Amino acid sequence: MFPTTRMRRLRASPRVRDLVAGTRLSPKDLVYPIFVDENLKESKPVAAMPGIHRQSLRTVAKEAAAAADVGVPAVILFGIPKAKDEAGSAAYAKDGVVPAAIRRIKEATDLAVIADLCLCEYTSHGHCGLLRGSRIDNDRTVDVYGKIAVSQALAGADMVAPSGMMDGQVAAIRKALDDADFEELPVLAYSSKYASAFYGPFREAAESVPKFGDRRSHQMDPRTATQALKEARLDLQEGADIVMVKPALPYLDVLALLRRELDAPIAAFQVSGEYAALKAAGAQGWFDEEAAVRETLTAIKRAGADFILTYFAKEYAARV
Ligand SMILES: [Zn+2]
Repeated sequence: MFPTTRMRRLRASPRVRDLVAGTRLSPKDLVYPIFVDENLKESKPVAAMPGIHRQSLRTVAKEAAAAADVGVPAVILFGIPKAKDEAGSAAYAKDGVVPAAIRRIKEATDLAVIADLCLCEYTSHGHCGLLRGSRIDNDRTVDVYGKIAVSQALAGADMVAPSGMMDGQVAAIRKALDDADFEELPVLAYSSKYASAFYGPFREAAESVPKFGDRRSHQMDPRTATQALKEARLDLQEGADIVMVKPALPYLDVLALLRRELDAPIAAFQVSGEYAALKAAGAQGWFDEEAAVRETLTAIKRAGADFILTYFAKEYAARV
């Protein structure tokens, strides 16, 4: 009790504050997401995400190398194909946009390359799976996810990251990878992915807006936390090596819950809308953007993330 206890003693000097900080954030904790668009010759800015560009196959390795140069250890790739069809078949083409980008990045850098794995950027209707009528056919979709995983593995991906939120997707991917002799390739599962308004800018960048309906039949309802834990547990039982919470800052309670309950590594995705909001307020001078970004990344790590996928990765790493 006061006056014996004085909390301010440990706050008096920056050196002592550092010693007792508890949470440390390094560029090594960050993964940089990159959009690669097969239709482009040069990179093209994403309007709602200042500082972020869609890369072409010609520019993607340079952008990845720029992240590597400032100490970021990994990138995650999202592809935009030349042609889309009902079945999203460009997603598992061996010479498709993501396999091509993986090869270029692996030639140019020693980065770990993670491949996002879904169908929504590849289907003409913009949904995450094959349709039967107006509904997604879960079980046929996860078979296709397996094919995508193998095409990404063959191109040299270090990890595949299924983001479609189909039931059984991790088991299907694990089996497909094992059958193709990739039993040592890890799966980073987007386990606890919420149906979020914060994905808005991404859908512009990745051209993956559904032509009808929305994703609430598979992504999680923001009002539930217990389902997030169950989803993560199921993914681990199916063979996931790492589980993810997405978005990050609005779901710190979910991150903390998973951290308490699970013994697996946990990733968090600071999504496009989180990035856009911080950038917009920073541009207006409404707060110190650099400090706000550091604070949000620290909060995400403190809540339980082992690493963070963030569009700020390159920028943050360049500053520290
Ligand atoms: Zn999707």
